[in-house]
Amino acid sequence: MKKSEQAIRDVQHFGEEGGVVPVVDVAVTSTFLNPLDMERTFRGELQGCYLYSRHSNPSVNAFSQKLAAMEGSEAALGVASGMAAIASAVEAICTAKGPGGHIVSSRTVYGGTWALFNNLLPKRGISVTFVDPTDTEAFEKAIRPDTRLLYTETVSNPLLTVSDLPALSKVAKRHKIPLVVDNTFAPMLVSATRQGADVVLYSCTKYLSGSADLIAGAVCARREFIDQLIDINVGPVMLNGPVMDARVAHELYLRLDHLPIRMRAHSEAALHLARVLDEANIPLIYPGLKSHPQHALIRSMLSEGAGFGGMITVDCGTPEKALDVASRLQQEKFGLYAVSLGFSRTLISCPALSTSSEIPEEEQSKMGLSPGLLRLSIGYLGDLEVMARRFLDCWKAVHPGRG
Ligand code: PLP
Repeated sequence: MKKSEQAIRDVQHFGEEGGVVPVVDVAVTSTFLNPLDMERTFRGELQGCYLYSRHSNPSVNAFSQKLAAMEGSEAALGVASGMAAIASAVEAICTAKGPGGHIVSSRTVYGGTWALFNNLLPKRGISVTFVDPTDTEAFEKAIRPDTRLLYTETVSNPLLTVSDLPALSKVAKRHKIPLVVDNTFAPMLVSATRQGADVVLYSCTKYLSGSADLIAGAVCARREFIDQLIDINVGPVMLNGPVMDARVAHELYLRLDHLPIRMRAHSEAALHLARVLDEANIPLIYPGLKSHPQHALIRSMLSEGAGFGGMITVDCGTPEKALDVASRLQQEKFGLYAVSLGFSRTLISCPALSTSSEIPEEEQSKMGLSPGLLRLSIGYLGDLEVMARRFLDCWKAVHPGRG
């Protein structure tokens, strides 16, 4: 974490009059003093000029540069949402080799990603094989001659399964295909790039924003790949148009400075609660507990000084009990019953009925997603002891004699 924190610290852009933060540059279009330069820029013969905000914008570039420093990637690009980042990166990789193609993906991915891969991409001639994210051999076995990429989430949504990024990276390199990783649950904690990922995706809507007030995403990769996304002739971001607004980029630019502090606070609060619940024999998943099947693995990938993140899941047994626990938790001001994550306050949801509902029940059970699972994005506000006590009281009211 220290490396990423220092890298964020070392990115510096001044405002027009020497201000300590850059100004927001909202201009959609830029003036060319020499009209010939516009044509040369469109032809790709002249670099460094701003053309039009769908192609590039100074505020989006400033945020992207700071995010790349954090992630340890050569470059980055802020886009309109996490889904825009996923869809654009996948499209750029697949279409670079012509129509069609095949993806080997972890089976435990965010519901929206699963729906994109299972429902939409096949309509465009791209097929996907889903495999167990902890089974590196299964990834390799599923690779075909037309496989264009491997896809996984560092810490999966919602099951918090940890992928072995260095091992998957070796497989990807052996087959000369990129490893694409969604690192939304672990910004600052794991640099997926340093662990071997070629393309790293973020939903900035979550921890990077931290305030549950904006939708945004980002792609981190080598410069050449980022340029491919905004290529005026074939770039999926340039041509489908899911760009980041300059004002959103500016907000995120400022918020990156306190991301390390927020991630530490989320991790501390989640670890405290996980220990209390574990002690009370409540069935939970948290990568920071020694009982987590990939505890040693995540430890080996964590950046120096990083915690285990702010996400916990608790299995209430049935959806009815999950909703009963959730409404009591909301009533007792433990958290809010809402989707999304990475907010200062705790957010609670039942993935089987919400963010993973796109995944058919049969697939949910294959991936081990219990219908009674509650996902908790632990906020950092409040007294940790008081919050843990509130949780235990609500749990005991629904599960008398358990926990
Ligand atoms: N990736 C993960 C892991 C997510 O949890 C989400 C949304 O919940 C997304 C991507 C999509 O992000 P967005 O809602 O910003 O499009």
